[in-house]
Amino acid sequence: MRSLANAVLIYINTVLQTGFYLGCVRVELTGRVAEIESELRKPLSADSEERATDLENQEALETIENSEMHEIRQIQEALNRISEGSYGICAECGADIDPKRLRALPTATRCISCAA
Ligand SMILES: [Zn+2]
Repeated sequence: MRSLANAVLIYINTVLQTGFYLGCVRVELTGRVAEIESELRKPLSADSEERATDLENQEALETIENSEMHEIRQIQEALNRISEGSYGICAECGADIDPKRLRALPTATRCISCAA
């Protein structure tokens, strides 16, 4: 009984830590996306050469923004799975995802064999 209680505690701890960690990452990413958004709203330079550089920079920023927004969505989905109690369960085969894999990739939705 004692070891089961222990295992449950460890599980709860892991889920809480992961939830907290993902929440922090989401706050950071959301802040960065907001910064990029305000950067993108700045008027372009009047000088044509500088304007070309501005446009290149904007394109690079948009690429970063898209990948950060993609990450935010993945984090949100992981947080949803935590609150639904389905976190750490492979979406394809229903097996438990290896905790080592979850530590390396907390937003993983599939076990290593299904993801391969
Ligand atoms: Zn699987």
